[in-house]
Amino acid sequence: MEFSKPFAEISYKGIVYMTAPTIPFKHCFTTRWGGVSEEHLASLNLGENRGDKEENVRENYRRILEALGLPEQNLCFTRQVHKNEVRIVKDEDRRELYTPFAYEADGIVSNVEGLPLICFTADCIPVLLCDPDAKVAGAIHCGWRSTVSDILYAAVEKMTELGAAASNIRAAIGPGIDMCCYETDAEIPQAIEKLLDGDSEGTFFAVGDTGKYMVDLKETNRKRLLQIGLKSENISVSDECTCCNCDKYWSHRQTKGERGSQAAIIVVS
Ligand SMILES: [Zn+2]
Repeated sequence: MEFSKPFAEISYKGIVYMTAPTIPFKHCFTTRWGGVSEEHLASLNLGENRGDKEENVRENYRRILEALGLPEQNLCFTRQVHKNEVRIVKDEDRRELYTPFAYEADGIVSNVEGLPLICFTADCIPVLLCDPDAKVAGAIHCGWRSTVSDILYAAVEKMTELGAAASNIRAAIGPGIDMCCYETDAEIPQAIEKLLDGDSEGTFFAVGDTGKYMVDLKETNRKRLLQIGLKSENISVSDECTCCNCDKYWSHRQTKGERGSQAAIIVVS
């Protein structure tokens, strides 16, 4: 697994977030640090469904928007369901916190300037995409199910509808669970093999004869983006494993689900 250029760690009034060298738009991958939530949700929990106090979640959103230099505003959310639906969103798709979700999708793309697109993870892989010339962006939630059902192909297709070109799309594969911690049954490597049509070198290996595998979802998604037509130099990959760095990131696996949510946010800018 090659990690390309490193991500940068940015601090602003206690908030710490990561940015990717390949993404020229305003964006972030949040960490646990800099919010007001407590105990296992400490502290920058952005998930409304994690049992947190509403006032804390609202304050956490206020803080991350301020850190990004964005006005206080509603963001574009989607209910993530581990499938491959990608939706083109517009201003009217903004959702107020603590209101019902209007739709389900694991990816959202847009060409509306200033509209923050957000996706949530806690081990799954967040992928941010943008075409700086066509002014199109995307936030894609790539857990294993979405990954092997080819959500990135669907995302690039929707971006193309908005004028983007695969060869000009920049991608950032954010912090998520790495091969060091992601042990699975045979089902996942088999699905990766199928997704990548055999070009799966470096995406998984067998753990002796246990029937278990160690899987690299970041590398799987990187390889798929190359197949779709992105240029290698336009893809950056975070070298941080959420499960190994559970003081900095929430890991679903490490916490057995007792966790907050971090987010990846991108804005056409
Ligand atoms: Zn790890």
